[in-house]
Amino acid sequence: MSSFSNETKNELARIFPENRCCQVAELSALLRLNGQLELTGSAKTLCITTDNAGIARKAFKLFKVLFGFPLTVIMETKRRFNTSRYYQVRANLDEQHLNILDKLGFIDDDNRLIYGIKRGMVRKKCCKRAYLRGVFLARGSVSNPGASYHLEMVFPAYELAVDVQRLAESLGVSFRLTERKNNFLLYLKDSEQIVDCMRVMGANYALLEFENVRIYKSMRNQINRQVNCETANLEKTLEASWRQVENIRRLIERLTVEGLPEQLRELAVLRLEYPDSSLKELGEMMSPPLSKSGVAYRMKKLEELSERLS
Ligand SMILES: [Zn+2]
Repeated sequence: MSSFSNETKNELARIFPENRCCQVAELSALLRLNGQLELTGSAKTLCITTDNAGIARKAFKLFKVLFGFPLTVIMETKRRFNTSRYYQVRANLDEQHLNILDKLGFIDDDNRLIYGIKRGMVRKKCCKRAYLRGVFLARGSVSNPGASYHLEMVFPAYELAVDVQRLAESLGVSFRLTERKNNFLLYLKDSEQIVDCMRVMGANYALLEFENVRIYKSMRNQINRQVNCETANLEKTLEASWRQVENIRRLIERLTVEGLPEQLRELAVLRLEYPDSSLKELGEMMSPPLSKSGVAYRMKKLEELSERLS
């Protein structure tokens, strides 16, 4: 995962929604994508596993604020393969707490599992933003803006991917949906859309950094384009000048300078003397001075004459 991704997630993990409706929405998204329901005998445990301490802390706090005690919430730090550590937030659910599953949108009124977003859970804009933030925290990533523009979120279920796509659309962010290795992927490639998505989620500092890099990149591209364009023009000018010099040399070999038509003579001599000058500059050197188009016309005559004679 890119460092920019981590930065963005750390910032989002620090945002704690004020409203209860948004707290439920964000915890629901986190649990749906990072959590699981463990069944051991009659015991039911909801747990969230993550390698990001900020996300674990947030889940812990959301749980506590929303449902309070006597829920047992334990935070564990374990080492997996001796390299990465991960955190688990566990909540043991007694009979009396099973309605939490309903509240968090895991099951419907008939105790059936819900695969998408529970209807009515994210009706308000504030909740939609919180839900999207939860999804990104759990399953999202974004490339360093210096490299390429890419933001994605991975879903195990198609229904949820489609629901989140619709939710984001209503906030003005249009995700593309695709399938990858039995997972479903929502992604953005357009830098404007990535900026909008980060703004909606509330990643304001990461957003500023993203914008700075984006502006720098676009300025650099613009300068490169301009330089390329100027180089191309210069090459064209030099190529034309080289051709004119060749033609005039050939004419003089055949006709001598005095043999050139009088109104073309001065220009022919000036061109040989100043092969790097533009037509406009040559015109200014003439007496009397001649406009660029006048110079171009006479130059064309010289070239035609040279072609006729060769
Ligand atoms: Zn809300």
